[in-house]
Amino acid sequence: MRILKFGGTSVANADRLKEVIAIIQQSADSHSNLAVVVSAQSGVTDELEKLCELIISDKSKADEIVKNLEQKNFAILKELLPVAQLPASMAEVMSMINELSDIVKGGSLVGEVTARTKDLIFSFGERLSAYVISEALKTKIPDAIFADARQFIRTDSNFGYAKVDFATSNKLILEYFSKHNGLKVVTGFIASNANGQTTTLGRSGSDYTASIVGAALNAQAIEIWTDVDGVMTADPRYVTEAQSIAQLSYNEAMELSHFGAKVIFPATMQPAMAQQVPIWVKNTF
Ligand code: ASP
Ligand code: MG
Repeated sequence: MRILKFGGTSVANADRLKEVIAIIQQSADSHSNLAVVVSAQSGVTDELEKLCELIISDKSKADEIVKNLEQKNFAILKELLPVAQLPASMAEVMSMINELSDIVKGGSLVGEVTARTKDLIFSFGERLSAYVISEALKTKIPDAIFADARQFIRTDSNFGYAKVDFATSNKLILEYFSKHNGLKVVTGFIASNANGQTTTLGRSGSDYTASIVGAALNAQAIEIWTDVDGVMTADPRYVTEAQSIAQLSYNEAMELSHFGAKVIFPATMQPAMAQQVPIWVKNTF
């Protein structure tokens, strides 16, 4: 088993997704067992955060954000899917969007968006992203399936920054992966509590999802596909001499993160480290 995780910029639009699909296909040619973890398209979680405020202050602007999210996903589907596959996929996106619209309406009526509702609202970013990617991937890898991580990552009820229950999650992940065949496209960032309510793992939590799933399945490797050349000595946007580091231990990576190297957060590495699953950081671009 090998986990490939793609961040928001890697899945931002149809053009980027074509490259992601090519990367997955290439990997599938040399590895028999793959799973993919994805973030929301870049900017979407920030938009959903804005949405949570607008629900109370400006319902029509809130509706606009929902409409834009629908259009963005329709555009991706139209560009990547054969015509015959479009109606069913667009209907599924529409049904997710309708669910989100209902939540917006409810929040606006009661004049409140709780932390719990906020996590539910956030979940649409990763759910839409993973769903459209799984549909697009099906054109090349027919057994690709959408995998909603709320079904197998269990957390406490600390909405916004929920703590993972590893004993339960590991069991659920193994069960889910043995029950469902095919290449799973897993929603990063989101999970659920014991009552089945949606939780999130904290902003930028999709890498953590990849690490949790990879560790539970004792993966051979976790590949984090992002928009920089791996772990670097400094932030290349500010330090022109920044260089890629070929290899470093988990401890060295953690130490580096204290000095501001933002590529991998220490918490993200913990599950992978416990199982000694190597993490590769690769540049989608
Ligand atoms: N979409 C979430 C965020 O922007 C999680 C992630 O990207 O890793 O925080
Ligand atoms: Mg993101």
